Amino acid sequence: MRKKIAAGNWKMNLGPITARAFVNDLLTQYPATCPGHPKIILAVPAIDLTTVASLLDGHKTISLAAQNLHQADKGAYTGEISAPMLVEAGCTHTLVGHSERREYFHEDNLLLHQKVRQALKNGLTPIYCFGETLAEREADQTFGVVEQQLREGLLTLEPAQFQQAILAYEPVWAIGTGKVATPAQAQEVHAYVRNLIQTRYGEEIAQETTILYGGSVKPDNAQELFACPDIDGGLVGGASLNVADFLAIANALP
Ligand code: PEP
Repeated sequence: MRKKIAAGNWKMNLGPITARAFVNDLLTQYPATCPGHPKIILAVPAIDLTTVASLLDGHKTISLAAQNLHQADKGAYTGEISAPMLVEAGCTHTLVGHSERREYFHEDNLLLHQKVRQALKNGLTPIYCFGETLAEREADQTFGVVEQQLREGLLTLEPAQFQQAILAYEPVWAIGTGKVATPAQAQEVHAYVRNLIQTRYGEEIAQETTILYGGSVKPDNAQELFACPDIDGGLVGGASLNVADFLAIANALP
């Protein structure tokens, strides 16, 4: 089901004490500053999950996401966290394949596909991230790269499973750099992706798929980006660490 969403990715910021203060502040400001109660997802570090889950306590429009998961149910994988553990901690969503996981932890599309399946098997909604680097964009490879990331990581799912997923187009050159894709650049890729989905799963599923844009989304550019017909909200890094900025972005959802 196509939803309008503002998802915040805290990355490796805020521990349990600072996370508690942040979420309390967010919960205080949210009803007053966001009268339309936009849908929010918080992707927080694993160490904060239970703290944030207890503060959200089944909140209707603010959901909790992990930033990563392991592809196995359990076992001898020191330092890793499984999908059943995330569910037990109160998560309903998880990022999969953020570009920082792809780059620094060498996660490739086939591994990410296992993670997507593992999330779905455990009732977690995967937010599958993909996007091209600057070199790939400059070499005119954007569509090819994005297509491969989707074909290998996501589009082999059966339709009913695919419908559970959320997509996030995040051009790597725009993440944490302050260089936002123009609405036209972002819309062009989103439309391409929706077309790929249509070819694979048909028009109805393509129209219902939520595709977020990520890459330096800020209060002053969110409205323009979210007004694009194939952009269904944002995956927000830096600006999600400031309550007022993040809520302003959420409030820019149509
Ligand atoms: C992200 O972390 O997914 C992201 C898009 O970061 P930023 O908004 O800081 O570019």
